[in-house]
Amino acid sequence: MTNFVVTDLDGPILVVAPHPDDETLGCGGLIALATEAGIEVHTLFVTDGSASHRASQTHPPDVMAEIRAAEAEEALKRLGAEHQPRSFLKLRDGRMPPPGKHAYRDALDVVSELVSGSRFKTVVVPWRRDPHTDHRISWRIAMDAVRGNGMQVTLLEYQIWLAENGQAEDWPGDGEVSDASLDISMVMERKHHALKAHRSQLGLVVDDDPSGFALSPKTIARLVGQTENYWVSRWPGP
Ligand SMILES: [Zn+2]
Repeated sequence: MTNFVVTDLDGPILVVAPHPDDETLGCGGLIALATEAGIEVHTLFVTDGSASHRASQTHPPDVMAEIRAAEAEEALKRLGAEHQPRSFLKLRDGRMPPPGKHAYRDALDVVSELVSGSRFKTVVVPWRRDPHTDHRISWRIAMDAVRGNGMQVTLLEYQIWLAENGQAEDWPGDGEVSDASLDISMVMERKHHALKAHRSQLGLVVDDDPSGFALSPKTIARLVGQTENYWVSRWPGP
């Protein structure tokens, strides 16, 4: 395990969050520290997060999407990143188009334009074999956009669901990536505060859907701590 500090990273940095809350859980400390260091960090929210409470009558998907975008804005503010750029791709949560579909190419066009305009040097994405399909497709769109623009970037992959729901073959293979750890103790409280901005994911907003999603204390304890762990590689590979 190598330790790194944010000033080791080349900016600008692109953070890819499949859902609002992944930015904080996966790399909120990195966003906060990079912002403090004066590095540009653009956060791309891929889906609208509207599928977390599918059975709710009071919070249909369009209402959830609005709530979750507002929570994402508040989380960035709490991370100290209110002046950093962000964009919302607004794909339907849980229904991301797979590669090969027209809608995938449309989404890729938008991300490609962002990537070609900003010339990111570092891209922070969910782990490529995260068990959540939205996470895998988000990874693919970002990687296709980088490769399509003829760029090469440092890739930092963060874990969200692998440890809880992954299969053995989802974990990194020998030599596939390197381990790297970021000490975020200076901003850990900020990360915790930012996570609390995602009230709908903590069971605090929708009260008519007992089957709705809520982050468990176990997940929060695993992802909000003194360090953030990443898998590092170059993309596309040498
Ligand atoms: Zn997610």
